[in-house]
Amino acid sequence: MNQNILSGIGNIYADESLWLAKIHPESRSNELTSAQIERVLASAKQVMSQALEVGGTSFDELYVNVNGESGYFDISLKAYGQEGEPCERCGTQIKRIKFANRSSHFCPKCQKLARPLGF
Ligand SMILES: [Zn+2]
Repeated sequence: MNQNILSGIGNIYADESLWLAKIHPESRSNELTSAQIERVLASAKQVMSQALEVGGTSFDELYVNVNGESGYFDISLKAYGQEGEPCERCGTQIKRIKFANRSSHFCPKCQKLARPLGF
């Protein structure tokens, strides 16, 4: 089984946190350095507090509100739902990859995998 870091939390939250931390979504937690893990956790915290600031009780709920055009336009998603859009950091197109039960959006340039998959 592929144990993806942050697999237990919402897709939006995970995509945004990993983009911020520059960690590839297929990174396995046991392959990350403790500094990288701390970066992901700090980013997750940052994303969450940003969501709370603009009035959401959870990031997922907030996104529904964004789609429903009921306000909350202050939040800007950097990765989630941005497939084909330029990365805000480097201009590379955001890619979407699919896993067994979810998909993930990421910048292939900023978020490099530590080592190739399947080994
Ligand atoms: Zn990028």
